[in-house]
Amino acid sequence: MACNRYAIATPCPADHGILFLPLMSGFARSPPQSLRHRSLHNETSPLETEAVPVLPHTPRRTTRPPRWLLVSAAAAMFALAAGAVFGVDISVPDRSDRGTLVTAPNRASSPKPQDPQELEQWRMTQAQQALEANASALLDENKTAWLSLYDEPIQADLGRRFDSLHTMQVSQFEYQFIDEAPDAKDDGTFELRLAANYCLGGVPADDCDRTSIFFDTSWSDSASQLRITEVDESHERGPRPWEVTALEAVSDARTIVAAPPEYAHRLDEMLPMAEEAARNADKYARFGQVDRYIFYLAGDEEFDHWYGLEKSSSLASAFMVPLTQARADGQSVPGGANVVVNQDKIANAQDFRTTLRHEAAHVVLDHEAPVHDRQPEEWWLSEGMAELVQHGHDTDVSQYLRMSDVREYVSSGGWDGSFTEVTDSDEAAAASAKYGIAFYGTYYLYTEYGDDEFMDFFEQVARNGVAADTASRDVFGRSYQQVESEMAEFVHATVSA
Ligand SMILES: [Zn+2]
Repeated sequence: MACNRYAIATPCPADHGILFLPLMSGFARSPPQSLRHRSLHNETSPLETEAVPVLPHTPRRTTRPPRWLLVSAAAAMFALAAGAVFGVDISVPDRSDRGTLVTAPNRASSPKPQDPQELEQWRMTQAQQALEANASALLDENKTAWLSLYDEPIQADLGRRFDSLHTMQVSQFEYQFIDEAPDAKDDGTFELRLAANYCLGGVPADDCDRTSIFFDTSWSDSASQLRITEVDESHERGPRPWEVTALEAVSDARTIVAAPPEYAHRLDEMLPMAEEAARNADKYARFGQVDRYIFYLAGDEEFDHWYGLEKSSSLASAFMVPLTQARADGQSVPGGANVVVNQDKIANAQDFRTTLRHEAAHVVLDHEAPVHDRQPEEWWLSEGMAELVQHGHDTDVSQYLRMSDVREYVSSGGWDGSFTEVTDSDEAAAASAKYGIAFYGTYYLYTEYGDDEFMDFFEQVARNGVAADTASRDVFGRSYQQVESEMAEFVHATVSA
C-alpha cells in the first residue's frame, strides 16, 4: 500500500517526499561539490532547492489506545464548550476569567485518592485544569502564569517558547489529551502525551488554518502542585521553529516572516518579496484561501533541526512542509503549511524572490489537500504548477529561468520523454532540468487545454490521488500516454527553438 503523509496507519518513511531541486542555469557543468560555493556567488543563477518532509508518527511511548480528549479551547473570544473528560464537564473560561488563572490546582485542598483508577482520573482532571490555565495564560500574555506550570529547570526554555509564540502572533492555543490516562511511574511522577492545537499570524480562530503538534510531557505530583518537569520536542513534523528557537518577525497583510536573531537583519529585505509571493499565489487559490502565509528564514543549523528534516541542508534551499491538525475525534487531518528558506543558500535577490514565489505556490496549491495515496505523476504536477505560478502563466515562456538547463539536458540525449521525479542520484543540472521539464509540461496543458481543465486534472491526480490515466481520459478525453507525448513534443519544440 502506498504511504500517505497524513495517515497514521500507513505513514510515509521519514524521508519520503523530500524533493530537492538544486538548480541553477549554468551549473550544468559544475560538479555537485562546487554547487554550494557557486550558488552563493553566481549572480545569474536561480537557486531553487526544496524538500517536502513527511514524517510518520513516532512509536507511542505508552501502549494505551489514544483517546482524543479536548482539554480546553482557551481561545481568545471564541469560547467553546469542550466536552466531558472522565465525567467532568469542561468549559472554557470566558475572557474575563482568563487573566486570573495563575497557578495549577492546589493539592492541599484535594487529598490524593487511594484507589489507582481514582488516582488516574484525578490526575487527568488536575492536568486538564492546569493545561486550561496554561493556554489561557498564553493567550492573555501572562508569562508568569504560563511559567507557573513548569518546573524551574525548564522555565527558561518554556519562557522562550512563550515569547516565540507571541512573536508569531499566536491567536489560538488549546491542549488535547492523546493518552487516555497518565502513564504512572514508580517515583510518583507520570507522563502524558498531548497535542497542542494552535493558530499563528494573528488570524481570528474562526478563520485560521489550525495546526497541531504532538508531544510528550512528564509531570511531578508533589504534595503541593502538579508541575510539568519535561516537555519533549514535538514528534510529528517537529520541532516547530517556535518550540526551539528564539524568533524575531515582521509581517504584512498576507504574510508573517520570522527568523532567529542572527538572521533577522534580512527580514526587512524578505518581507516585501514574501508578500508579493503570497499575493501572486493567491491568484491561484482554487482550493481555498490561505489564512496567512508563514515563512521562516533559517541557517543550516535550523534547517536540519526544524520539522525533523535531518540531512536537508546539503540538499535544499527551501521547503514547504504541509502540517496536520488533530481533530477532536482523533483523526489527523491536513492543517496549515509552513515554508522554510535556508538563507545560507540564497545567492541574491532573484533567488530569494523566485524561491519564495515557488514555495508560496506550494502552500496555496496544497491547501487542505485531502488524505490521498500518492501517484507517480504528483511530483511533476506539483513542481510544474509551482514553477508555473512562480513564472506566471501569462509570462513569455522563453524567459523561463531553467530553459538552458532543460536545453542542455535534452540535447545531451539524457531525456527519454517521460516526466519523472528528481532522485538522489540526479546531479544539480539534471534536477534543475527535471523541474524545467515539469514546468513546460504544465505550461503546455494549462495553455493548450485551459486553466479549468488543467486544474481539474491537477486536483484529481495531485490532490486526490486519482490515477493519471483515469483523470486524463476524464478531463482531456485521451490517455495519459498521449498527453505525455504531447507535452514531450512541446518541450522539444520549445528548447530547440
Ligand atoms: Zn517545489
